[in-house]
Amino acid sequence: MRCCPGPNKLLSLLKKARDAVGVAAAASFTSPYSSASLAAAPKVASAMDEIQALKTKVCIIGSGPAAHTAAIYAARAELKPILFEGWMANDIAPGGQLTTTSDVENFPGFPDGILGMELMDRCRSQSVRFGTQIFTETVSKVDFSTTPFKIYTDAKTVEADTVVVATGAVAKRLVFPGSGDGKGGFWNRGISACAVCDGAAPIFRNKPLAVIGGGDSAMEEATFLTKYGSEVNIIHRRDTFRASKIMQNRALNNPKIKVLWNSEVVEAYGDGEKGPLAGLKVKNVVTGEVSDLKVSGLFFAIGHEPATKFLDGQLELHPDGYVKTKPGTTETSVRGVFAAGDVQDKKYRQAVTAAGTGCMAALEAEHYLQEIGSQEGKSD
Ligand code: FAD
Ligand code: NDP
Repeated sequence: MRCCPGPNKLLSLLKKARDAVGVAAAASFTSPYSSASLAAAPKVASAMDEIQALKTKVCIIGSGPAAHTAAIYAARAELKPILFEGWMANDIAPGGQLTTTSDVENFPGFPDGILGMELMDRCRSQSVRFGTQIFTETVSKVDFSTTPFKIYTDAKTVEADTVVVATGAVAKRLVFPGSGDGKGGFWNRGISACAVCDGAAPIFRNKPLAVIGGGDSAMEEATFLTKYGSEVNIIHRRDTFRASKIMQNRALNNPKIKVLWNSEVVEAYGDGEKGPLAGLKVKNVVTGEVSDLKVSGLFFAIGHEPATKFLDGQLELHPDGYVKTKPGTTETSVRGVFAAGDVQDKKYRQAVTAAGTGCMAALEAEHYLQEIGSQEGKSD
């Protein structure tokens, strides 16, 4: 399985990666990783006595593939973008969700796969190379009610002609004994929240697997996993699925899929003390009976949480919190504000689709700047 590095390894990788980029990064970049203590989050403001005010044509919020692709395009178009990469925003390191995994094997251009951390570091270096100014700060507030738009962190206020929101999303996880990434936990050692990313790993091949959830993601992931596992058990807390009929039927008609209705996982256990995931204790919520389910893999498909709270209602959102974009574009409800990546995509949620919409956002921002007379010419 594409297990992510442990926390210490992760921090040392982060430090190494940031050290490698450090000097080349825009002068304003304040590396948080050189500090011996990562527990004490960097207070960028501590180096300054007052809030710094900056102006830019394009402000990009986020640090995953969408944000960096937008930055690369905007910087190459000489728009001198400012990018806020966040500091442990939503508990994820700058670089986004891919920093929480190891091998990424489906991003084109890397036939042997690439570590998620390394991929994101390369994206970051490419943003910096063309002149993106990166701040390791989390955006806490925005004001899109008038132009120029305003973007606030603890230490800065940026006035921007256009904004690209690319703050991503976080897969929801369940907490029960054995579900974590600490001692005795199987997170990334048999438990995952991304079947498309991890399903093909050798530890799942021809083994019984389980998926928790009853929505379209659960149906899609369970169906996908039948390509690899010997059987797939969908564990759902109710007696009906909320998934669309077509997705339900596809899953229910698959001979490798079984459903455990009215059920919840109460524990994951391993094969011996250090062995891989071996099974689950599953409770029937109607009868209270706890049964044993032998599986080598468990996938959460219980939804994602898009990172949109800081927008505080200033962009139109779908009921589940994703930013609404005009189909086929990255345009949001506010002219001049664009959204890219997982923050506006509940369906595909892949690095390459995030990068694709990041490109669209930058090109659309550039067109918008031309329309309002803030940018001449056209680049690609
Ligand atoms: P994200 O990667 O979600 O990053 C956004 C980041 O922006 C946040 O993490 C945070 O650092 C920053 N941010 C958030 N809020 C703020 C704020 N207010 N201010 C400043 N910064 C902020 N996809 C694949 O294609 N292949 C894979 O193999 C693969 N493996 C995966 C493995 C795991 C464990 C996970 C969780 C996901 C995986 N994915 C994979 C999915 C992929 O990571 C996402 O689709 C992709 O990263 C989405 O990119 P994004 O640019 O939308 O933003
Ligand atoms: P959903 O919110 O639709 O479904 C989440 C599922 O997880 C629900 O069945 C829910 O149960 C269950 N769940 C939530 N919390 C818990 C919990 N704490 N314990 C146990 N179960 C839990 O999320 P999806 O990711 O499935 O879908 C999100 C959106 O993306 C939807 O609009 C969907 O249509 C769309 N989508 C479309 C796809 C496609 O068309 N190919 C593919 C994937 C997603 P309950 O039902 O009881 O609330």
